[in-house]
Amino acid sequence: MPDTILPMEIRKNADLAGFNSFGTGARATRLIQLRSVDQVPSLLGELKQASRVLVLGVGSNVLFKRDFDGLVVINQLKGKRILAEDENSATLDIAAGENWHDFVRWSLAQEFFGLENLSLIPGSVGAAPIQNIGAYGVELERYFESLSAIDLASGEQREFDRAQCRFGYRDSCFKAQPDRYLIVSVRFRLDKILHPVLDYAGIREMLVLQGANPESPDALQISDAISTLRVNKLPPPELIGNVGSFFKNPLVSVQRYSRIQAEFPDMPGYRQPEGTYKLSAAWLIEQCGWKGYRNGDAGVYERHALVLVNHGTATGEQIWQLASRIRQSVSGKFGIELEPEPRVIPD
Ligand code: NAP
Repeated sequence: MPDTILPMEIRKNADLAGFNSFGTGARATRLIQLRSVDQVPSLLGELKQASRVLVLGVGSNVLFKRDFDGLVVINQLKGKRILAEDENSATLDIAAGENWHDFVRWSLAQEFFGLENLSLIPGSVGAAPIQNIGAYGVELERYFESLSAIDLASGEQREFDRAQCRFGYRDSCFKAQPDRYLIVSVRFRLDKILHPVLDYAGIREMLVLQGANPESPDALQISDAISTLRVNKLPPPELIGNVGSFFKNPLVSVQRYSRIQAEFPDMPGYRQPEGTYKLSAAWLIEQCGWKGYRNGDAGVYERHALVLVNHGTATGEQIWQLASRIRQSVSGKFGIELEPEPRVIPD
């Protein structure tokens, strides 16, 4: 039996509230949910008529300030394959529209290790390399092998290896040319031997609380501990609109770090391998008094100053105005310019 090619549904004047985890209302001129690679030729045809295109996964890293005059493509390609295995590692090919956390738990259930610290990060597999997602001392690039993408400008399929992705801190080459590529699938090389990364504050304590041995936890125990740490600090997007961290942790030179530290001795700072210092954006924002702030339905989460929230009916513009005020006050007090982590549309 030949595969069935699903017809591609095109919505006009589409409501984006259900397609972004801030839950803010905005409209797109047209919207397509891409469910099969067979639909790509029709998608490329549609693109010819679009002034702009925006590719989304589950919309967990985007803020719509206004309506989007263009075509929104929701990448919902599904599928997980084990490509190769030896005694040390397994190579997997995962479709871009798979849910990230479901994939992490699936990989652990197969006893493929490495992604346990990245448990419960909201989003899709295809969005993960764009952001080079990272948490609790592990970044995606460590387990990334390559990816397949369609160049939406030419319609050609392209492969990107790790070097070509030019990964950085929450960064990759895809951020420099947003929406040029539609990521189809991502290949990971995971370990068959667990190498626990437990150095971030709170992990060992949570393992103990959950009845695990903090000296030799298994991967599912680590994943559970990380998930609980996240649940305790971060609001569930289904209940309170948010995109996780709204600002990147700033990287500053040693000289700059020492200057600020002399004035604010309690300021946390983490020395990076390349010699810079990473500062805690959450700490800087909290020092400016924003934690728990609320103006109408736009606010700062009371348990984490880095998370801007929509308590219900905030507009994207209201959240953006709040973000701008936070940036101004951090800049005024510390001389540091915070950079937003999510995409802000229109950018
Ligand atoms: P935190 O403990 O309040 O610390 C603030 C920041 O300091 C962290 O973001 C982390 O940077 C850095 N840091 C803390 N301990 C460190 C260590 N031992 N070595 C090097 N850097 C260290 O952090 P948090 O907000 O609860 O977040 C915990 C982890 O979850 C972090 O890795 C964070 O990135 C991740 N997270 C990500 C998002 C997101 O939306 N992207 C949301 C929430 C949490 P790094 O961010 O570089 O790790």
